[in-house]
Amino acid sequence: MLGPVILAASRSDKMRRFISAAPGTKQVVDRFIAGETVDQVVPIVVDAAGKGLEVTLDVVGEDITTPAQAEAARDAYLELIERLKVLELGPRAEMSVKLSMFGQALEGGHELALANVRPVVEAADAIGTTVTLDAEDHTTLDSMFAIHEELRKDFPQTGCVIQSYLFRTEADARRLAAAGSRVRIVKGAYKEPASVAYQDKAEIDKAYVRITRILMEGEGYPMIGSHDPRLIAIAQELGRQAGRKLDEYEFQMLYGIRSDEHVRLAAEGHRMRVYTAYGTDWYGYFMRRLAEKPANLLFFGRSILTK
Ligand code: FAD
Repeated sequence: MLGPVILAASRSDKMRRFISAAPGTKQVVDRFIAGETVDQVVPIVVDAAGKGLEVTLDVVGEDITTPAQAEAARDAYLELIERLKVLELGPRAEMSVKLSMFGQALEGGHELALANVRPVVEAADAIGTTVTLDAEDHTTLDSMFAIHEELRKDFPQTGCVIQSYLFRTEADARRLAAAGSRVRIVKGAYKEPASVAYQDKAEIDKAYVRITRILMEGEGYPMIGSHDPRLIAIAQELGRQAGRKLDEYEFQMLYGIRSDEHVRLAAEGHRMRVYTAYGTDWYGYFMRRLAEKPANLLFFGRSILTK
């Protein structure tokens, strides 16, 4: 019940101002956001690598309003890639990007987002790594998939994300499960209408299993983005049934969520990538994490009240 209310609040400027200024917010934000600056995130990447974990780095931000902000987003990623270069982690540290942060929703946004994301993909490729395009709300996906296809002409390793709550996703998975593709499957984190998305958790989970099977049986590289123990066990089984070795797919989880499980799966020989978000514009990302688990909201409320 609370999830949709929190997701609606994630789009409200008034709530953004209120929550950002509330005492106690930072303590809860720190659980999900790895830092505000590239200097703060680099030691976290090094620490993860030391534990046998891989990372995908997200400079938080979305819903920007000017082309200058889109260019600033591009530059923030270029700065990050410059810093990753010296670590020589190659594909063990990749980038996740939200095209809305690259200008997708502005006038001429499709072309603008493509123009801004291309240099990031190019720079990542130059240091031996890749970029994955995150999936945002359903109205943005045709543009995201078209940009993905365009980028793959020069950088075939560019990944993308699909969401099991959307009716369209099984067809997208079939199209994308081709040789050389990298596809992350997640349940989906936005507030979507019943005309395009399953609303029932059990239906979303069943679709997740069907889509994971398509990806595992396909020719691409599946990236299983979930903290759900049941879906993780099913993905392992589907990988086995499809004859995949452990390094022929990977698990992905979010920084700050089920961290013991990150290490456990890596110790079992799985590739485990931690989606590590950092930066100052954390509001939208943080609110989606609150919406996913009502207990987070209780924790958040308590930390505000005790300040
Ligand atoms: P759930 O059933 O929600 O959770 C299973 C268990 O995991 C919970 O019982 C709880 O123990 C734990 N858990 C899950 N979420 C939280 C939380 N916020 N706080 C504390 N514990 C939690 N969504 C998109 O729409 N687009 C994307 O591009 C995208 N990228 C993602 C990348 C990665 C690597 C991951 C892991 C998720 C991504 N998501 C994305 C979010 C995703 O859609 C889900 O909202 C999120 O993963 C919660 O679903 P779940 O599969 O973990 O299962």
